[in-house]
Amino acid sequence: MTVRDLIILGCSSQQPTRNRNHGAYLLRWNDEGFLFDPGEGTQRQFIFANVAPTTVTRILVSHFHGDHCLGLGSMLMRLNLDKVTRPIHCYYPASGKKYFDRLRYGSIYHEMINVIEHPVSKEGIVEDDGRFKIEATFLEHGVENIGWRISEANSRKYDSQKLKEMGVYGPLVKELEDKGFIIINGKEVRLEDVSWIRQGDSFAVVIDTLPCQNAIDIARNATMLLCESTYLEEHKELALTHSHLTAKQAATIAKDANAKELILTHFSARYQNLREFEIEARTVFPNTFAADDLLCFEFPKTNVKVT
Ligand SMILES: [Zn+2]
Ligand SMILES: [Zn+2]
Repeated sequence: MTVRDLIILGCSSQQPTRNRNHGAYLLRWNDEGFLFDPGEGTQRQFIFANVAPTTVTRILVSHFHGDHCLGLGSMLMRLNLDKVTRPIHCYYPASGKKYFDRLRYGSIYHEMINVIEHPVSKEGIVEDDGRFKIEATFLEHGVENIGWRISEANSRKYDSQKLKEMGVYGPLVKELEDKGFIIINGKEVRLEDVSWIRQGDSFAVVIDTLPCQNAIDIARNATMLLCESTYLEEHKELALTHSHLTAKQAATIAKDANAKELILTHFSARYQNLREFEIEARTVFPNTFAADDLLCFEFPKTNVKVT
């Protein structure tokens, strides 16, 4: 069974609260587990979420403020303890290499895991294995900070009814795919007559930024956008001072990018009721949900045709 969901391991900003851990987000997508911004305490949040840390295949750190990375060392140590044999890929802003190294080697342990580092120094595609690709863009937060996008490759879908009607079956399907057409009983069947191209889904992460064009571009047509909204509009001056977004600004990014669904996170400790974030954002972008610790959002599988 394929798994597609987003697990919120924490959703606070700089300062955790009684109810909200430092941020950390696990996207489970087929056989990959993308862990974004493991803040302090992430290892323990996996236990509360009832998810094995060994699910993690890739760790992406947007920037090296503590609430986005203090759990990195303990996560790597945990994966080491669990004797994970496959490589763990880590992506982070290249300018933060010294922080990455300190976190990776912040305590005594006999490192057995295979950590593959991907320091990112320029925008664009940082990974493409044919099944999915990871893209990076720089956001506006006063320090080097990356917005991410993970996209599934497009795929060809066949209309089984049309295949049947036209007598295309078994090895003929492969022949049709290879040649682009096939002759059956003297009649030409073209590939496009019986199939279509499904747009691969995409997941975008925009955490810690002022409103900016790059945030919109990385989230363009995304199936799901995970976006910070540290403040409500009533504190928009604070958002500006600290290079953060309000719920309304996050919703505007989602709307301008034509994203399909918006998940808000990274809430300031001053707020008790996260429902207010949903209410504010929905005035601009109705399909918005506020994250909360240990919530699990289904990452929908869409069937959008490439036109
Ligand atoms: Zn932060
Ligand atoms: Zn930050």
